[in-house]
Amino acid sequence: MFLKGKTALVTGSTSGIGLGLAKAFAAEGAQVIINGFGEADAIEKERQALEELSGAKAIYDSADLTKAEAIADMFLRAEADFGGVDILVNNAGTQFVSPIEDFPPEKWDLILSLNLTSAFHTIRHAVPTMRKKGWGRIIGTASAHSLVASPFKSAYVAAKHGLAGLTKTVALEVADAGITVNCISPGYVWTPLVENQIPDTMKARGMTREQVIDDVLLASQPTKEFVTVEQVAALATFLCRDEAANITGANLSVDGGWTAH
Ligand code: NAD
Repeated sequence: MFLKGKTALVTGSTSGIGLGLAKAFAAEGAQVIINGFGEADAIEKERQALEELSGAKAIYDSADLTKAEAIADMFLRAEADFGGVDILVNNAGTQFVSPIEDFPPEKWDLILSLNLTSAFHTIRHAVPTMRKKGWGRIIGTASAHSLVASPFKSAYVAAKHGLAGLTKTVALEVADAGITVNCISPGYVWTPLVENQIPDTMKARGMTREQVIDDVLLASQPTKEFVTVEQVAALATFLCRDEAANITGANLSVDGGWTAH
């Protein structure tokens, strides 16, 4: 349990990849702060399960990450309850699929705000405590779409490329402070985010559900397999080890060969 005594904040961790990351950190003994939306009873069950896994405290913070004040409050609470955040994962994200000429401006604003601007806010709140401790790990769940584009995902691709750029910039700024900053770029992982975009992709491309899965999603991944949440979580956990202290400013692909094309 090499993360005993450390506190990990994973944004958007009531579901999908974020929940998998929270479980992986808890399994290594970390105190975990989970965040995101969902049904109160289900979230409370997950919180309790995390405490059982880690033998340490786990808390849930309902901050809406599109609101800068809510992010500031979440960090005040982390400071009060745990003395700050040692491991920050900017994972919350959403998707919307539409041709550019019909792309609703409010969806553009939401995706940029949640998938990119929230990471600016969390990082600026997290860095001062990490600097004081001389140790920190900042990880972004980016995407293969931080490296390459797909049609109809203008806001998502722009935000993820932005997150990759933010990662590199902050890595340089904190490189001498014991803090590493990286992003992990998964290909398609089977989570609600992927499942929910299937109907819109069917509409945008005039395809059946099976065609979207085989000819759009898995067409990009030479392995022809969805990436698993556990595979992403294993890499994130490795990045927290001392052996990973010189991995910084990197954009690490877990995409079944997608971006090797
Ligand atoms: P998901 O939909 O299962 O989880 C998204 C999480 O974000 C949920 O916990 C949700 O409650 C939370 N969230 C949504 N809006 C929020 C808000 N305003 N404030 C706080 N939390 C909010 O999605 P996922 O597939 O697990 O995606 C997680 C991250 O991984 C995203 O950034 C996504 O872009 C990225 N990603 C996913 C895939 C994939 O194939 N699933 C691939 C590459 C990258």
